[in-house]
Amino acid sequence: MTMIPKPPNRSALEQEQFLKILSREEALARFEAALFPRALPSETRKLGAAIGAALAEDITAPIDVPPFDRSNVDGFAVRSADLSAAGEGAPRRLTLNGETIHCGTAPALQVAAGTATPIATGGPVPRGADAVVMVEHTQPADLDAIDVRRAVSPGQFVSYAGSDIARGEALLRAGTIIGSREIGMLAACGIAEVKVARKPRVAVISTGDELVQPGGALPPAAIYDTNGAIVAAAIDENGGEAIFLGAIADDEARLEAAMRGALVDADMLVLSGGTSKGAGDLSHRIIGRLGQPGIIAHGVALKPGKPLCLAVCDGKPVVILPGFPTSAMFTFHDMIVPVLRKLAGLPPRSDAKVSATVPVRIASELGRTEFVMVSLVAGKHGLIAYPSGKGSGAITSFAQADGFLRVEALADQMPAGTETEVTLFTPHVRVPDLVVVGSHCTGLDLVTAGLAHAGLTVRSIAVGSLGGLAAAKRGECDLAPIHLFDDRSETYNTPYLVDGLELVPGWRRMQGIVFRKGDRRFEGFGAKEAVAAALSDPACIMVNRNQGAGTRILIDRLLGGARPEGYWNQPRSHNAVAAAVAQRRADWGMTIAPVAHAAGLGFIPHAEEHYDFALVTARKDRPAVRAFLEALGSDEARAALERAGFRPA
Ligand code: AMP
Ligand code: MG
Repeated sequence: MTMIPKPPNRSALEQEQFLKILSREEALARFEAALFPRALPSETRKLGAAIGAALAEDITAPIDVPPFDRSNVDGFAVRSADLSAAGEGAPRRLTLNGETIHCGTAPALQVAAGTATPIATGGPVPRGADAVVMVEHTQPADLDAIDVRRAVSPGQFVSYAGSDIARGEALLRAGTIIGSREIGMLAACGIAEVKVARKPRVAVISTGDELVQPGGALPPAAIYDTNGAIVAAAIDENGGEAIFLGAIADDEARLEAAMRGALVDADMLVLSGGTSKGAGDLSHRIIGRLGQPGIIAHGVALKPGKPLCLAVCDGKPVVILPGFPTSAMFTFHDMIVPVLRKLAGLPPRSDAKVSATVPVRIASELGRTEFVMVSLVAGKHGLIAYPSGKGSGAITSFAQADGFLRVEALADQMPAGTETEVTLFTPHVRVPDLVVVGSHCTGLDLVTAGLAHAGLTVRSIAVGSLGGLAAAKRGECDLAPIHLFDDRSETYNTPYLVDGLELVPGWRRMQGIVFRKGDRRFEGFGAKEAVAAALSDPACIMVNRNQGAGTRILIDRLLGGARPEGYWNQPRSHNAVAAAVAQRRADWGMTIAPVAHAAGLGFIPHAEEHYDFALVTARKDRPAVRAFLEALGSDEARAALERAGFRPA
């Protein structure tokens, strides 16, 4: 481990850190060196509240378990010497003593030679007896005697005092994580409370003028605070006690007051946002005033997560996570969880890993350790890991991914076909029953809803029509939803199929012009006239679609070579087009009818697009595929599609 060099003065230190981006390993090593070793505070907790905590002391058994010699069966306490000669042909008669020993009954009578005492499982063996004979191996004789037809050895069916846990024995060692088994051992010894490592109290603050807490109304340009909730949950998951202090605006004085206040009680402080070193980024400046040694790393060669800031202020870790939720989550898990768990006395996380092949080339930035979230599907030879690339701002990638892979800092790509290790988010891989790879449509969710409710897992991976076709050809999915127009034949989809794939008709989607209701340039016109009106008004701004989108082909045909204002604004989804028009960043664009209607916009129908499925013939008979085809043809799905504005084929 590297020790942090003592800085000559604060400003030189700050300058050095601003210029120097550390490798992930170096940053973590410096952070840990500044924090450990240290004594962990402990606290006493009742057994029921100790689950998951690390024991802070060795525990020695205070009593014997069981505390007395105990019968293991229902039967009779006997003297083995009386029965040493008993056998099938030589029954031995024993007279019963006048008591029955139940659980919790202390015996009063001695077992004398030639006698036996009825005893229940768990009953204390009485004085004089040295073995128990099972009731099944006896016959009643007279009213108060039994016949035994088997020899009995000394100690038979007796658990001796201390045979489970002996008084004075080391029961549990400090550092043991308390689970239900440990709680059982402690309870058996009568221990009601234990000393455990105290949960580190971790204050959480989100920063940003734009943040609103979930539950509140969302004004224009505001977003919900995601990091507050996700970081607090991850702290609790890793042995800490999160204290969420809300979101603080980007105001130096208020933020400093909140940070100082948090550090009075908390053992650790985690902020998010404000690390991109822009004008509004204050937290790292404040950290310099909060305690020694201050900032240890500002800028780590991680992707996502470069602007991570690690500091120690008078012994307490202070961390600023990047603002984008996915970046915040990755850096938290990779760089903060190891430290948090050490502070909680917990061992490092043992994440489950599997090996999988990447089907496509993954480009990566040289010099940064890159984490790529992936969805796993079953391939012909083992698991396939699809990168779920939505960018570091996307929170859903987290929910839909099964885990992540790492591209090392020294690689600038991971070639297609590479076999690599995938760290799972949950302990088990759940390979989905139905895999749909291609173009995504909200109509698809309406068809698969029934499958999900019937317990089938459906994984839909949006890679566009062409990506889906490629996956289908490689046999990595069951179905590839496509909407590909062929210029030569002027038909949809069928010309794109190859051997091994067959077409399953899906539904039609009406593409058309969206505009704000009441806009005279569009209201009441057909698509061609509306576009002509838009082109003749220089103040009119359009929103386009990305190259390769089916919608883009339609727009380009309508524009006939014109490049009006807004042409280079090329979002990648139907919803983004509607949002741009609704929020007045553009006046018109092309999207599908259901999306235009959901956004409350005007819509001029233009062309009906065919959204169909390329089915991998070899997978046709899989139960989940059959269930999908059934659902697709069902009255419910057709009705739901129609309600949403689609026209089932
Ligand atoms: P910043 O580092 O503050 O410039 O934030 C980078 C990006 O992350 C911006 O788009 C922020 O709006 C976003 N962001 C910052 N904090 C949060 C948060 N708590 N929840 C969701 N998004 C956030
Ligand atoms: Mg911010």
